[in-house]
Amino acid sequence: MAQAQTVVEKKRMRTPIESGCPDGMQFMHPLMIKNFGNWKYHDRPRPGVLHHVAYSGDEIWTVRVGTQRQLGPYEINLLCDIIDQYGEGYVRFTIRSNMEIMVSKWDKVGPLIQAFNDAGYPVGGTGNSVTMISHTQGWLHCDIPGTDASGVVKSLMDELYEEFIKEEMPSRVHITTSCCQINCGGQGDIAINVQHTKPPKINHDLVANVCERPSVVARCPVAAIRPAMVNGKPSLEVDEKKCICCGACYPPCPPMQINDPEHSKLAIWVGGKNSNARSKPMFQKLVAAGLPNNPPRWPEVAAVVKKILYTYKKDARDWERVGDWVERIGWPRFFELTGLPFTKFHIDNWRGARNSLNASAHIRF
Ligand code: SF4
Ligand code: SF4
Repeated sequence: MAQAQTVVEKKRMRTPIESGCPDGMQFMHPLMIKNFGNWKYHDRPRPGVLHHVAYSGDEIWTVRVGTQRQLGPYEINLLCDIIDQYGEGYVRFTIRSNMEIMVSKWDKVGPLIQAFNDAGYPVGGTGNSVTMISHTQGWLHCDIPGTDASGVVKSLMDELYEEFIKEEMPSRVHITTSCCQINCGGQGDIAINVQHTKPPKINHDLVANVCERPSVVARCPVAAIRPAMVNGKPSLEVDEKKCICCGACYPPCPPMQINDPEHSKLAIWVGGKNSNARSKPMFQKLVAAGLPNNPPRWPEVAAVVKKILYTYKKDARDWERVGDWVERIGWPRFFELTGLPFTKFHIDNWRGARNSLNASAHIRF
């Protein structure tokens, strides 16, 4: 009995400590804690600065700063020094990797902005601006990307710098970038997503050692993968006529390599939004396919994004999101105005799309 208890005790000691996301309250500015849920109104005294006024009369200013998202120790120390010296030591990150620094006096806002600008960090991203592009991990952190989302974002934000620090768009513009076709990418007014154009190449020598074949077979959305014996070893085969080049088989089975320097491309999707202000949430739709995956500056992608963005800026009415604008003018006019070609890649001949992806700009038969 004593021995059984010891085992139970030991097991209890080995229980992992539940360490999820920490409670955010402990990191909040004291004025925000004091006035939690009791805000009277907010406004924006200038691009990149939010001003909140509480019923108690307290006021707080939030300065929004664009970052490169992937920060090393040098950048983190530099930013923390600025926040300690010119702010009040409180910072939070938005889901788009902007930093927000809260201060309790308007007098502190100017020097804080100046210090960030002097260090090369732009202040903006509020209201009707092009805020920081939200993006997935890219080559640095994930094991399956076909491109470096962070790199695409950096090169594009360099070109959209003026649109970040000003609020001159018809409405807010949310751009997203995703480095594979199937996982953590998001919806955006304009989205840049990887597009594989060839089925995976199988390294038959490795499949038996590395992959759980039933899991891989089950993973394919169009049942294109079958178990097969190759050179006397258990392996897999792909029915290339069925394969839609989604890349879903690659994460559980790395020997089914789908990334390819030439055939993994980038596609641009337009008109997605999560908000239900003024119109319902919308799915984005494919507008440009087969753009070269061309590091380190991805010039072809930047050119198409800028073309769409500036056509929208010129033609949309106030407060129309990109999707609202396209809904109003219609897709034929969108292609006319942007000069983007309507190609065979806009024709969706996958019969499954009729039921499950019935939200695209594709022509259907
Ligand atoms: S989008 Fe895909 S490849 Fe990129 S980080 Fe997410 S899961 Fe990884
Ligand atoms: S790429 Fe997608 S469709 Fe093609 S075999 Fe792999 S899982 Fe199936």
